[in-house]
Amino acid sequence: MPFNLSLAEREAAGLKRSLPAIERVDGRCLYAGGRQYLNFAGNDYLGLSRAPELLAASEQAAHQYGVGAVASPLVVGHQTIHRELEQALCDWLGLEAVMLFSSGFSANQAVIKALPGKEHTLWQDRLNHASLQEAGLLSPARMVRFAHNDMAALERKLTPNSGLIISEGVFSMDGDTAPWPGLVSLARQSGNWLMIDDAHGLGVLGAKGKGTLAEQGLEASDVNIFMGTFGKALGVSGAFVGGSRALIDYLHNLGRSYIYSTHLPPPQAAAVLAAVRLVQQADDKRDHLQTLIRQFREGVSGLPFTLLPSNTAIQPLIVGEEHKTLELAAALKHQGLWTGAIRPPTVPKGSARLRITLSAAHTKADVQQLINALHAAL
Ligand code: PMP
Repeated sequence: MPFNLSLAEREAAGLKRSLPAIERVDGRCLYAGGRQYLNFAGNDYLGLSRAPELLAASEQAAHQYGVGAVASPLVVGHQTIHRELEQALCDWLGLEAVMLFSSGFSANQAVIKALPGKEHTLWQDRLNHASLQEAGLLSPARMVRFAHNDMAALERKLTPNSGLIISEGVFSMDGDTAPWPGLVSLARQSGNWLMIDDAHGLGVLGAKGKGTLAEQGLEASDVNIFMGTFGKALGVSGAFVGGSRALIDYLHNLGRSYIYSTHLPPPQAAAVLAAVRLVQQADDKRDHLQTLIRQFREGVSGLPFTLLPSNTAIQPLIVGEEHKTLELAAALKHQGLWTGAIRPPTVPKGSARLRITLSAAHTKADVQQLINALHAAL
C-alpha cells in the first residue's frame, strides 16, 4: 500500500480528530445523541442561521431560481440574485466591486494564487488562517511570516513596491483584532498592497456591522482587498472578495477557484442578501453580544487559564495541554455545554484551548451556566 493511514500516533497524543454526530445546530443550541446542549462552539454570532427573514428569502429564491446555480459563474451560473447580492455588499461596505465565492477558503485561494508572480512577496501574520497560509505556500510568490500583530517586525521585513500584506480582522482562534491603522500606514509607506480577511469581524464589529476596519475608524477603501465570509455572523455560508473594478475583473479572469467552480446556489445568495439587510440594523444584537462578552470575561477572570484579550465573540480559554483540554470539554459536555477543544496543528503546540464562542442568540442565563460549569469543572 503506498500510503500509511495509521492515526495511532495522533490518537496517543490526543490529536486525533473525528466528526461529532450532531443532529442539528443553531446559534444557541445543539442537538446530539437525543440531548440538547447550549452551543458555545459555533460561529453564528448574531443568531441569524434560523432567522425567519433568511428562511423566507431562501425558500422564495428556491422556487424562483431552483436550488442549484446550474453552472460556474462565467458560463451561465451568475444570475440576477447574485448581482443583487453583490450590489448590496458594495452599498453596505463602500466597495467599488465584489465577487461571490462558495466558501471563504476558495475566496482566499483565488486571490492569493492569482495575484502575485514569483517576483512578489506575501507578508502574512503568523496566526493567519490556514486558507491564507496555504494559498500563500501554493502561490509562486515568496512568503514571509511576521510575528503576530507585531508592526515593528513587519516593518523590518517589508521591501518597497513588491507585494501584498495579509492579515485578519479578528483572529479566528484567538479572538483579538489586528492593528489596522498600523497596517494601513505601513502598506502606504512601503507601496505595498493590503488585504483583510474579516471573516470573524464582519457583522459583529463596527457601525452597521461593517467590521473591523469600521471599528478602528477606517474605510474599506483603506485596503486593496476586502474578503469576508457569509458563514459566521451572516448565518449562511459562502464568501466575497471586494476591491476595485479592475481587481475584480482580473480575478474573474484568473481566479481559478472562481472560474472552475459551480456558483453559489441562488437560495443561499438570497438568504445572504436578507442577512446583509438585517445585519446593518442589528445594533441591538451587537449590544447584547457585547454584554454577554463582558459578563463572560468577568465571570471567568478568576480561573487558572489564560484569557486572551478579545472584545469579540471568540473567547478562547488557553488550557495548554491537549488531554486536559479534552477533559475539560468533556466535563462541560456532561453539564450540557458544547465547546470547541482546539488543539495543534490548528493552534501552536502548548496552547490547546477551549474556543468558546458567544452569540447574540444566547441569554445571560446561558452564559452564567457556562461560567458556573467552568468553575465547577476545576
Ligand atoms: N478565513 C478565516 C479567518 C476563517 O476563520 C475561515 C473559516 N472559519 C475562513 C477564512 C474560511 O471560510 P469558509 O468557512 O467560508 O471556507
